[in-house]
Amino acid sequence: MCVTLLRRHTFYYGVVGKELAMLKIGDSVQLSASDLVGHLNCRHLTDLDLAVASGMIEKPEIWDPLLEILRERGAKHEQGYIDHLRSAGYTVTVIDGVRVDKTAISETIDAMRAGPAVIVQGAFEAEGWSGRTDILKRVDIPSDLGEWSYEVVDTKLARETKGGTVLQLCLYADLVASVQGLIPEFCYVIVPWSDYKPQAFRINDYAAYYRHVKWSLSQVISSNNDGESYPDPKVHCDVCRWRQHCDAKRRHDDHLCLVAGITKIHINELKARGISTTKDLSTIPLPLPWKPDRGGVHSYTRIREQARIQIEGRKEVSSTGRITGAGLRFLSVEHEGNQTSSPEEADKVRDLVKDILNSDPSWIDRDGVEKAVTLEDILIIAPYNAQVFELQERLPGARIGTVDKFQGQEAPIVIYSMTTSSQADAPRGMEFLYSPNRLNVATSRAKCICILVGSSSVFETECRTHRHMQLANAFCRYLEMATTI
Ligand code: SF4
Repeated sequence: MCVTLLRRHTFYYGVVGKELAMLKIGDSVQLSASDLVGHLNCRHLTDLDLAVASGMIEKPEIWDPLLEILRERGAKHEQGYIDHLRSAGYTVTVIDGVRVDKTAISETIDAMRAGPAVIVQGAFEAEGWSGRTDILKRVDIPSDLGEWSYEVVDTKLARETKGGTVLQLCLYADLVASVQGLIPEFCYVIVPWSDYKPQAFRINDYAAYYRHVKWSLSQVISSNNDGESYPDPKVHCDVCRWRQHCDAKRRHDDHLCLVAGITKIHINELKARGISTTKDLSTIPLPLPWKPDRGGVHSYTRIREQARIQIEGRKEVSSTGRITGAGLRFLSVEHEGNQTSSPEEADKVRDLVKDILNSDPSWIDRDGVEKAVTLEDILIIAPYNAQVFELQERLPGARIGTVDKFQGQEAPIVIYSMTTSSQADAPRGMEFLYSPNRLNVATSRAKCICILVGSSSVFETECRTHRHMQLANAFCRYLEMATTI
């Protein structure tokens, strides 16, 4: 794993390695190993990254404490291997920097020509692809460089090498070949607890498949058919940075994949019959008026009933504004030095309430009856009386109070103002700031939507004990599940 890159580049979920962002320069797109592996995991991911490279959307930032730990372990593992090589007497040349720029590329070429035993962080660019290799190891096989050439070694944390890792190494082998005029025969992975004994992979055993994935990615890039793919759920979604974005899209579309227990076969069959939403599915007559081409009738009856139960249990807000549907939302408000009151958050909450009430809002109760959302239907919670006063000044007549005031009460929309700017500003310490009880009360008061309003720095907490981690965990989980508005 690359130490320097990890410091500079956002850690990529699911690929315990480095990420060079897809770049669009004029009409051409610069791709990296992350794009190749991402494409293998999900075609829609490529479309989203391409939209980011084209400046059409922003890449979501995701912070995950577990990945931070993995990052540190990965960096340590790589450094351990480099130290091991040094102590075994190998000469090591390190290419500085984290980018693939002209300086790093020319330093890499110079180093390969000079021929040290080990080159760390080689930078390469060829035919629209770029990358920085963890480690290049010199072997006595002649190439354009002279009586030697280089093979690629990567350090990984996973005990079992993933397909994506081998794809990445195939790409690096190609990039190395662009300089030395020879594709290395082998590439290697160093995993932990192996005494740094490399796992060898013969490039030719994977090369045709690698070329196929590369070709498939280039087809998507050149086809320019923005938005054609759909974020159908995949295994990779659990660890993908786009998961909130894609989940919001599926919910917005009321996609059939939201029905518990439904399969791809069901979805395809239902779509072919013009049934494309959970709501559509919940209303098809029983017994089924048609015989499915694939799958048993009973399984369609089961998912139809499941859809009906889910729709009946669904209580949601409809409006012409941004507050629609059901679930958790997060509104970020930047402020500093606030302890028990935050005028910035109070202003935002006031604007938010006005937005909601001006967007022709309604909500559907558990009996399926649609009702208008009024000020009475919005419950606003703050942790401190000082913040309650700030909010009351701006929203006279609204239901505003601390958690204690609203025990046992519910409302279609709940807004929770975190108030304090950061952990350092918390007057009553972490236990109070991250009280899971208060968060639980706030979310459980909401019949349809809970909106957490807070400064992003309040979540950048330093946990020194497992209790602190436990406290922060509930809020991190909230953020994972919430849609940012
Ligand atoms: S969240 Fe899932 S569907 Fe969306 S881009 Fe990631 S892997 Fe693809």
